[in-house]
Amino acid sequence: NTYNYLNSQIFFGYFSTIFHLQCFKSMKYHIQWFRRDIRHDDNHSFYHSLSSTNPTLALFIFDTNILEKLSDPYDLRVNFIYKQLQQLNEIFKKYNSSILVKIGKPEEIWPSLISEYDIEHVFTNHDYEPYALNRDAAVSDFLSSEGIKFSTFKDQVIFEKLEISKDDGKPYTVYTPYKNKWKSKVDFKNLPHYPSEEKLHNLAQCSFQFPSIEEVGFKYKELKTTDVDLSNQTLANYSINRDFPFKNGTSRISVHLRFGTVSVRSLYRKGTELSETWVNELIWREFYQMILWNFPHVSHSAFKPIYDQIEWENKEQDFAKWCSGKTGFPLVDAGMRELNETGFMHNRVRMVVASFLTKHLLIYWSWGEAYFAEKLLDFDLAANNGGWQWASSSGCDAAPYFRIFNPTEQMKKFDPELQYIRKWIPEFDTDLYPTPIIDHSFARNRALERYAKALKG
Ligand code: FAD
Repeated sequence: NTYNYLNSQIFFGYFSTIFHLQCFKSMKYHIQWFRRDIRHDDNHSFYHSLSSTNPTLALFIFDTNILEKLSDPYDLRVNFIYKQLQQLNEIFKKYNSSILVKIGKPEEIWPSLISEYDIEHVFTNHDYEPYALNRDAAVSDFLSSEGIKFSTFKDQVIFEKLEISKDDGKPYTVYTPYKNKWKSKVDFKNLPHYPSEEKLHNLAQCSFQFPSIEEVGFKYKELKTTDVDLSNQTLANYSINRDFPFKNGTSRISVHLRFGTVSVRSLYRKGTELSETWVNELIWREFYQMILWNFPHVSHSAFKPIYDQIEWENKEQDFAKWCSGKTGFPLVDAGMRELNETGFMHNRVRMVVASFLTKHLLIYWSWGEAYFAEKLLDFDLAANNGGWQWASSSGCDAAPYFRIFNPTEQMKKFDPELQYIRKWIPEFDTDLYPTPIIDHSFARNRALERYAKALKG
């Protein structure tokens, strides 16, 4: 049997290198539609798709509804997704399969797919962003009108939607009670594992051509961010080191969580043994996803509407200096330069630059949110929006409006030897470095007055 199996594998490998293996039109297929879950292992919907007698076609759509809005031809996220898909494709090739990569609008891709293949059942994992919810509802309607089953699964969080809710069934709007309820319901020892990695032999034996990044409409750029660090030492010391941007004391896992290239369940399993503080941060992520799902208005306006009454300065030239890291406040500038150069910014610094933009410069938070959305490799609508609304005090469980970070004091506290500052601002301490664009005390008092005025109604 082993001999026959090996022979067939050798034949198959040989055959597939000479001819493109075409899928059989007469065969019924399952489709696993990858989106924010670009991995072969412990993938909930992929596992269910592969657990049937019908072979699974693995599909990824480069969605031009989203891509058309990206202005940078070297966009880091597209490069990241592209690289992850290449890696997934290499894994699938070992099973004489490959990933079907389509480029276009899902509403047009799906009708063309069903005319090409006999599809019985489509599997995918939940995505909670407003655009994704509309897209999935439309795809679901279309598939059911064609008699094709569409099944969706929870994968990127432990608890979703209203699974953690107040006793009256309403969503939480404050993190700590949400976290406490979350922890009272979780069973870390028995978190499910969906072993999709053991079922890859059920992938469809088809060889699809993998597009070039130019065909996707973008150009190659090397990713410069620091490597992921999930070492026992980093996680065990997380609560001591995490606030110091020069220390590399955090996991750098955010981009992988964003695109699902890591299983969140595996992270909780590891985190719970090493650092409660780190687990609490993963719960912040779920909290903001839950907020976005229950209160979708946050994606375009303040969680607390009265905060949209503030009289903002919104000065273009101040915004431009903030974006380019030329405000004369070293911690703000170092953060913005780290972001512009790498697509990453340390969490403490994200809080400081966001507070500075909204309170010192009195620029509406959505300007900063949009700039982060354009630049962050780990950009996630829920976490980014949550972070910005937290910093500007308009959010559900936000910093009180009178809490205004002093960027100079923050620098002294969290970068006392100026290691982070000097890394990102080579001209620091020279005449080339700009003087502060605003006086801290003036800006602080102005913000307090403007906020107080708006909140009085
Ligand atoms: P670690 O400190 O190792 O934390 C582990 C994981 O927990 C993170 O990867 C992330 O998934 C989650 N997490 C940690 N802190 C938060 C938080 N405050 N809110 C939600 N989740 C958290 N995070 C994003 O993933 N995408 C964003 O677009 C994003 N935008 C932000 C904007 C602002 C203004 C602020 C203040 C924070 C933002 N964050 C965002 C949260 C946080 O800054 C990043 O998750 C973190 O810096 C990523 O680094 P890490 O993976 O080393 O995190």
